Amino acid sequence: MNDTYQTIANSSVGKALFNAINLPIPVILERWQPGQASFIDGRVLVGAAEGGSAMDTILATLKAAPGAQLAVLANNGNASELQKQAAAAGVNADNYTATREDDTRFKGLVFDATGIENPDQLKALWAFFHPVIKKLDKCARVLVIGRTPETLSGAARVAQRGLEGFTRSVGKEIKRGATVQLIYAEAGAESQLAAPLQFFLSPKSAYVSGQVVRVRQAGFDAEGFDWQRPLAGKKALVTGGSRGIGAAIARVLARDGAEVIVLDIPPMAEDLNKVAGEIGGHTLELDITSDEAPGIIARTAKEHGGLDILVHNAGVTRDKMLGNMPENLWDMVLNINIASQLRINEQLLADGAMGEGGRIVSISSIAGIAGNTGQTNYGCSKAAVIGMVDAYREEYANQGITINAVAPGFIETQMTAAIPFTIREAGRRMNAMNQGGQPVDVAETIAFFASPAAQGLTGNVVRVCGQMMLGA
Ligand code: NAD
Repeated sequence: MNDTYQTIANSSVGKALFNAINLPIPVILERWQPGQASFIDGRVLVGAAEGGSAMDTILATLKAAPGAQLAVLANNGNASELQKQAAAAGVNADNYTATREDDTRFKGLVFDATGIENPDQLKALWAFFHPVIKKLDKCARVLVIGRTPETLSGAARVAQRGLEGFTRSVGKEIKRGATVQLIYAEAGAESQLAAPLQFFLSPKSAYVSGQVVRVRQAGFDAEGFDWQRPLAGKKALVTGGSRGIGAAIARVLARDGAEVIVLDIPPMAEDLNKVAGEIGGHTLELDITSDEAPGIIARTAKEHGGLDILVHNAGVTRDKMLGNMPENLWDMVLNINIASQLRINEQLLADGAMGEGGRIVSISSIAGIAGNTGQTNYGCSKAAVIGMVDAYREEYANQGITINAVAPGFIETQMTAAIPFTIREAGRRMNAMNQGGQPVDVAETIAFFASPAAQGLTGNVVRVCGQMMLGA
């Protein structure tokens, strides 16, 4: 769907006018272009609090971005040490001295905060970011790497938890399409940081900001990994794949090399065939709530040699205030949006149709986090998706399978086009990007979790909401 406000605001006349009357100008976000050689282009400043352990992976990851020019902050104590570390990793890093006057602009700021052990040491954040936070390029990326608080105790746990408030506040200050995220890595999981670093530094995460992910120890080895086609040889199934976000997911998974089965209800057959035809995929016409659905899905998966990726995207809204909500609308939403997912997962695993290396990603919603008027059924089902991720992450981890959720905010689809104008406009603007996201933004986040490189990520919920004011 078109965002007319954004189009006018970005025209030359509109820009002058909107600036004059102080209206927000939603920037045109930079998104990933197929064939793009580097996941980040431009100057990237790296820094670290003393005692950090993530810098080797940060440097190795940035080395794989030919378009990145690295710098370390000279007026941040340990710059020469970092410069040496970079040289040892085979990366050239300039020594950068920040002054108020210089007009250097940064496409990325990456700070290793894993060494922070008490609240006093949080000052390292100020020391690194204060001189440079106003020097961000359009659509710049800010990342803080911390140590998973739940794996710590005492003052270190307290301080690491503080990083969340810091990054989320930075997200609300930086403008012009810039994003900020916090990646927590448990001790020993540093080597698993490559996937989240690449994703969150790249334009693939255009509409994701203010998020926190947790990375665990896992066996993924970045050496020689094909980041351009990370899903080559993988088989994926996307429910509700005939249109909207589901179709975008199918396209992105296919772009990344996966063989995709798109599933939707029989009345959507025409659209379903179109999507499958476009991506060289397969179709499965099925109502996921039917009694036979789990068995048919498991059987289809096995016919294709087993499933590596399952995306629970099919979902519906049937909004009514609770007092006016008929039983059938409650049942329908809960059944499609969550109950059917549990049945399908169970059958797939019981039948061995998904095993080691499997990826389950389910679509929650911002309504499942913050709640929404008229959406008791929908909010309940989408919060339950988060519950599913929580409940099964350990059990599935034992089988080498990850389970994560993506919670979209306002995404431009037929679902949101049906919202009355004023509510729709409010939904679009009430986020740090002042605009709605595109289906591809959700799809990119799904593909990130679906990658073999994301073996260390399970039990996460990432919102794709432009850092929405609701529940953010
Ligand atoms: P959509 O209505 O365009 O697509 C949903 C698809 O699911 C449709 O093709 C539909 O036929 C299919 N589906 C519904 N019931 C089914 C069933 N029983 N069996 C098989 N397929 C079924 O919606 P969308 O906007 O693309 O949303 C996709 C997902 O993202 C949903 O889970 C939705 O709740 C979630 N979401 C969307 C937004 C948004 O802003 N659009 C925000 C938050 C969450």
